[in-house]
Amino acid sequence: MFIWHQQEWQQLTSVKSLHHGLMITGSGGIGKREFCLSFVKYLLCDNTGLKTGEEGCDQCQSCELFRAGTHPDFHLITSEVESAQARISLISAYGDRYQNVLARDKKAKPGKIITVDQIRQLIRNFSTQSHISSHKVVLIMPADAMNTNASNALLKLLEEPPGNSTLILMTPSPGFLPATIRSRCMVVNLSNPGNHVALEWLSQFMDQDAAELSLELANGGPLNAKLLFDNGFLETRSQYMNQLIDMVSSRITPLALAMDLSKSDLPAFLDWFQGFICELITWRVSHVAPKRFDVSDRVWSTKSFSVEKLYGLYDRIGFYRGIVREPINAQLVTEDLVLMLRSAIR
Ligand SMILES: [Zn+2]
Repeated sequence: MFIWHQQEWQQLTSVKSLHHGLMITGSGGIGKREFCLSFVKYLLCDNTGLKTGEEGCDQCQSCELFRAGTHPDFHLITSEVESAQARISLISAYGDRYQNVLARDKKAKPGKIITVDQIRQLIRNFSTQSHISSHKVVLIMPADAMNTNASNALLKLLEEPPGNSTLILMTPSPGFLPATIRSRCMVVNLSNPGNHVALEWLSQFMDQDAAELSLELANGGPLNAKLLFDNGFLETRSQYMNQLIDMVSSRITPLALAMDLSKSDLPAFLDWFQGFICELITWRVSHVAPKRFDVSDRVWSTKSFSVEKLYGLYDRIGFYRGIVREPINAQLVTEDLVLMLRSAIR
């Protein structure tokens, strides 16, 4: 759990009788997973006298098993992709129990759905007595990954949960869950840390300039900002900007640019490119340059653009972002987008 969620932590841990269904929400990259895992550990720890700290006593058998990834009273239901690519090792340790790991690891792309079979298996396991702790906990993460059948199956458990149990549904997008599920949960919305706190946290890993830029590119989510920094995205971004400038200055052809871009990480490029086009539109419409301006190179100010076509391009990027996790021809996508940008230049 991060220090910026202390208020929500207080709120949950001071409740006399906790609601059996909790929905933990909040925007991307602020530490929802860490918060949920800390809270699960706290719930499972029976050492009430010592539970004043943030995540259980850290001394009892329950805390030890939890840390080792082998606590029998904790059930974590995730999608294949979440478990296979988890940045927190405990997520894989627990998530894999409800997955066919051998079949998953043979797939080119692990699944993004939480299936009804996983929920059925959960219901079977969850109906038995708890083993170590006096409490049993389910964490479904992200809960919006459940398909309709899975949600319907879970509804029964939410309506008639076994005694001494808590179901936690973590989701950044509660609106994607059926109202029948939402209405049976107490919603806890985790707050954003705010710029000052986020920058202070990021300053352990990078200098001030990099922290400010990463945080802005990550829309204020400090964990996502760190991920961008760790993955070298700041350098990649400079490279994108230089490549676009080369195309706009006619040093390379649109098709050559599209070919280069198609070799990069397409989802990451689309995320950045949509933000870039948004800046370009804002600048053209308001004539006020945003603070952190990706289009600050003078070549952009020497060109005149059709704002209408830029809006069309913005929408098209949004469309591709929606389908980018499906099998998709990266070169056709980048060609389409680069040619649209070219045609927006008058
Ligand atoms: Zn403990």
